[in-house]
Amino acid sequence: MADEQDILNLPAPKHQPHLTSRRIGIHTSVAGGVQNAAERAYRLGCNTFQIFSSSPRQWKPYSLGQMQCDEMKRLREKYGLKPLVIHTNYLVNPAATNEEFFKKSIEAFRGEVERALALGAEYLVLHPGSFRGSDREQGLTRAAAAIAAATSGLDLAKGGLTILIENTAGAEFSLGGSFEQVAELLERLRSIIPVAACIDTCHTHVAGYDIVSEEGLRETLVKLDASVGLKNVPVWHCNDAKAACGSKLDRHQHIGNGSIGLEPFRRLLNDPRLAHAAFIAETPIDEPGDDLRNVEALKKLVVIRGGQQILFHL
Ligand SMILES: [Zn+2]
Ligand SMILES: [Zn+2]
Repeated sequence: MADEQDILNLPAPKHQPHLTSRRIGIHTSVAGGVQNAAERAYRLGCNTFQIFSSSPRQWKPYSLGQMQCDEMKRLREKYGLKPLVIHTNYLVNPAATNEEFFKKSIEAFRGEVERALALGAEYLVLHPGSFRGSDREQGLTRAAAAIAAATSGLDLAKGGLTILIENTAGAEFSLGGSFEQVAELLERLRSIIPVAACIDTCHTHVAGYDIVSEEGLRETLVKLDASVGLKNVPVWHCNDAKAACGSKLDRHQHIGNGSIGLEPFRRLLNDPRLAHAAFIAETPIDEPGDDLRNVEALKKLVVIRGGQQILFHL
């Protein structure tokens, strides 16, 4: 992130940012130390946030200092930032067919779990991976085995940590392009670790589900409820899409500026069946302030019956 884009380089806000009745946040930079993300999230007006706990495209093992973890906890408490969601490094592929890559993925994911526990995070999001070189069934079996191996001996339940399997754009060889595939993986893991799902609006849309029309979204939520279960989705990734429904092309767009548009986000944010969930944007930063604008775009959509917006101070 360029310096001029970083909200930490702007003067601190004089007033506490307004909040809504929903948990709304954004993927936040950890530049300068993981704990800085909490201060950024607060200044962006979030009451939940997501981070990477290590460099997202490097294998290098990485451990966090006690002071960083303590400071993260202190700031989260001070600002009421809950839940903390960690997104796993993009290189991790629990379904990998190549043996060396499979082992590296297990090792790296174990590091992710250890850091999530050290930080006291509630959720760790994982893409179920690519089964290129084998078939879908083998991929699912390998992914479940990798996650089980990576977490063996670690007490996630005691640490209050749940692994979230994220649905994907459904590109060839990728697992998790349908709700049923996500549900199948959850089923295999449920007896081993605390697991649930993270549903990404952009991935759902480009995978071919209709979330744009009112009727389409209603039916898509019926499908999601019948497979994964709405109550098993504690985190929604709110991203508009650059590509069309069914394109399988995962390109995130600013809220309201893409092929999804504002209305589906309004419906999701105000659906009482999803009131337990955190809604987190993973939108691009093309211009300074885009992060703040996307958080505000989501917050503005939150209404109560009768269309009145809920705004209150901490
Ligand atoms: Zn996502
Ligand atoms: Zn994506």
